[in-house]
Amino acid sequence: MPNAATGNEFDYVVIGAGSAGCALVRNLSDRTGSKILLLEAGGSDERIEIQDPTKYFGLWGSDIDWKYETVPQEFANNRALRWPRGRVLGGTSSINGMVYLRGDRLDYDTWGYLGNYGWGFDEVFRTFTSMEGTSNGSSSGPLMPAVVVDQSPLSQIFIDACGELGINYNDNFNSGKLSGAGWNESTIYQGKRQSSYRAFLHPIIDRPTITIETNAIVQKLILNSSHRIEGITYIKDGKEHKVSIARELILSAGAVDSPRLLLLSGIGAPEELRSIGIKPVVELPEVGRNLVDHMLIGVAFGSASKIDGRNPFVTESCAFVGSNPGVVGSNVQISFVNEKNFVEGYEVPEHCFTVIPGIVRPQSRGWIKLRSSDPTVSPLIDPRYLSETADLDDFVSGIQISREIAKTKALSPWTTGEVAPGPGCSSDKQIRDYVRSVATTWFHPVGTCRMGIDSGAVVDPELRVQGIANLRIADASIMPTVVSCNTNAASTMIGWKAGELIANSKK
Ligand SMILES: Cc1cc2nc3c(=O)[nH]c(=O)nc-3n(C[C@H](O)[C@H](O)[C@H](O)COP(=O)(O)OP(=O)(O)OC[C@H]3O[C@@H](n4cnc5c(N)ncnc54)[C@H](O)[C@@H]3O)c2cc1C
Repeated sequence: MPNAATGNEFDYVVIGAGSAGCALVRNLSDRTGSKILLLEAGGSDERIEIQDPTKYFGLWGSDIDWKYETVPQEFANNRALRWPRGRVLGGTSSINGMVYLRGDRLDYDTWGYLGNYGWGFDEVFRTFTSMEGTSNGSSSGPLMPAVVVDQSPLSQIFIDACGELGINYNDNFNSGKLSGAGWNESTIYQGKRQSSYRAFLHPIIDRPTITIETNAIVQKLILNSSHRIEGITYIKDGKEHKVSIARELILSAGAVDSPRLLLLSGIGAPEELRSIGIKPVVELPEVGRNLVDHMLIGVAFGSASKIDGRNPFVTESCAFVGSNPGVVGSNVQISFVNEKNFVEGYEVPEHCFTVIPGIVRPQSRGWIKLRSSDPTVSPLIDPRYLSETADLDDFVSGIQISREIAKTKALSPWTTGEVAPGPGCSSDKQIRDYVRSVATTWFHPVGTCRMGIDSGAVVDPELRVQGIANLRIADASIMPTVVSCNTNAASTMIGWKAGELIANSKK
């Protein structure tokens, strides 16, 4: 494999080998054969906790986690929440829960409605289809998401319980309609995690036009006086390296690090940059703004029977519901797992299951800012969780629906009773207090380099950063609004689509 530090010239440099970055490099390489350098701050993904789908909880807080943390959350009992992010080949797709849901037609048609041509549901549906493969050969992309086999019987009982409440069976969440209860697809292939790196790049690792430089921490983008990116600097083995860029630089460093790298390079709100000693180069005040994240909470029940041990920690099934009957589509995603989850601080018996309502169209918006001009210092992250009352209201409904699910004929024989928050937590006020003290991140931050056609947008619909000639962003940060389900599939699709956009603009 050629070494970037030897002075090779590259057509394209991509920063970040995560969900989006790996998909982008593969698609761009397949389409153009260009010389591409992929720089990744982390290293090898050869470890059992990544490959074995049941062991990923052990990766959070480990050496392959960026270990970010929010500032104390004013509306969530002043708790500072941990924000794991993958720092390894595959990025966060190497440490995530592997649920693979594309999103709802409404999610992408909203992007289209906002002026983002090419990003409506029908267009992104084609992108998903070309990126994914199926075991029956109906499509032949490299990523092989599928419903897990050998499901736990209790997951089926959850779906039956939802049916009793009129939450109808949805036989394919990835068709563009999320509402209903059904089976999640997962990025588990042949019994192992299929991260973006494993799907897109590992199979072509010997392709001579692709150079992957690991343990390479990009520090800064170098702009010339015409606002063109000339190169970047990165640190590897304690030494600084420079790489020049023939055609384009693409940031795929994720919703925290893409805006962070822009800010470190003087691209952002001028006053804020000056206040920490960074010379503003390009005025783009919304860099780091529009931060949105899903939250979730556990409602845990003791189990009357020993829980089947199949697929532990894999969220096999879930339901998408409206927090009230007038909701268009669904704004609460209720996951179901066969063990204790997201009920921090509560005593839970060994045999238990958790119903996990999550708010998937939150109204609260926050920001990411730099603390200092030092690239080694973690940024300030303030998602302003629960700052909008509507988010609390959605949680109250989600918890009430979760409790109804547990009371159904299908599920009640399994239940010895609710253990968290427990029957004592019944009034709206008590439930809100529970939410403020226990609800946590669903690990889905997006939106910090928002795509749009207005003057405040950070990137345009072709993912080009406003005011800079040869810089694009392709990762979760560009989502103008968050998709109403887990965000990995959408992030990966953004990378794959970016590969196509860049290849087309080269013609
Ligand atoms: C614990 C957890 C569980 C999750 N579970 C699910 C799930 O089950 N299903 C789902 O759909 N979503 C899940 N998500 C969310 C989903 O994985 C992310 O939305 C998605 O991976 C984001 O992709 P990305 O390409 O934007 O960023 P990432 O995948 O994070 O990629 C960014 C890459 O850039 C690298 N990088 C950053 N800064 C630099 C730098 N300065 N120099 C060089 N490289 C750099 C990083 O190391 C990383 O490899 C989960 C997330 C977490 C944290």
